[in-house]
Amino acid sequence: MRLDFSDERVLAVVAHPDDAELLCAGTLARARDAGAVIAVCVACRGDKGQPQVLVDDLAIVRRAEMQQAAALLGAELFTLDQPDSELFDTVEVRRLLVEVARQFRPTLLLGHHPEDYHVDHRALSHLTEVVSWLATSPGFVTTSPPLETSPALWWLDLLQQQGPQPELYVDISGQLELKQRLLECHASQLQRGNDGNFAPLAELMRQQATLRGQQSGVIAAEGFTPYRAFKRTRAW
Ligand SMILES: [Zn+2]
Repeated sequence: MRLDFSDERVLAVVAHPDDAELLCAGTLARARDAGAVIAVCVACRGDKGQPQVLVDDLAIVRRAEMQQAAALLGAELFTLDQPDSELFDTVEVRRLLVEVARQFRPTLLLGHHPEDYHVDHRALSHLTEVVSWLATSPGFVTTSPPLETSPALWWLDLLQQQGPQPELYVDISGQLELKQRLLECHASQLQRGNDGNFAPLAELMRQQATLRGQQSGVIAAEGFTPYRAFKRTRAW
C-alpha cells in the first residue's frame, strides 16, 4: 500500500527556518512529486538560532536561507515573523495563522508534536491545533473566507527520536538526497556543528531518516502521528 498525495494540499507549520527540512521536507517533496500543492509556514524569525551574532542580521540571513530552500523544494513560503522564544497563543497570532490557512486552503497540516522538546515548537503545536479548528469557523473573521472542511493534522516526529514514537511512516528513500540539499540551504545553522552546545544537524537528520527507514523496512522515512480529534481525522 502506498499513500497517494496527488489531490492533497499540504501545509507544514513549523517554528524555525530549518525545522521543515529536519522533520518533514522528504514528505513534502514526495507529495509534490505526486502532484500535491505544498507550502511551508515558518512562525519565528530564527533570530536567536546562533550565539554571537547580531540578532537583526541573523534574521535576515535566515530569511534568505529559508527562501532558497522553499524555492528548491517547490513550496510556497509563508512567514509569521515572530521573535524566537516569544511565540504565544494570542488573538493576533491566531489571526495571522488562520489567514495563512485560509489563503493556502490545506487538506493536510503537518505540525510540531505537543510533546516536542522546544518551547517554540510546543507553542506552535498548540496554535496549529487551534487553527485546524478555527480556520473553518465563520465567526472567526480574517481577510479570506473560512475553509469548508477542516484539514487533517499529522504531528511531526521528535528530533533525536526522544519522546513518543511515530504511528505513521512515510517512505522518503527517493527524497533523502534532496532533503540533504534542502538542509544545506541553512548554512548559518550547519556551521553550528562546531558549537559544542549544538548537535550537528546534517548528521542528526540522516540518522533520524535512516533509523525511521530501518523501523519501517525502507532506506529512509519520516515519522508522523495522525491527530485523532473530531473533524481532523481522515481515512487514507
Ligand atoms: Zn525549531
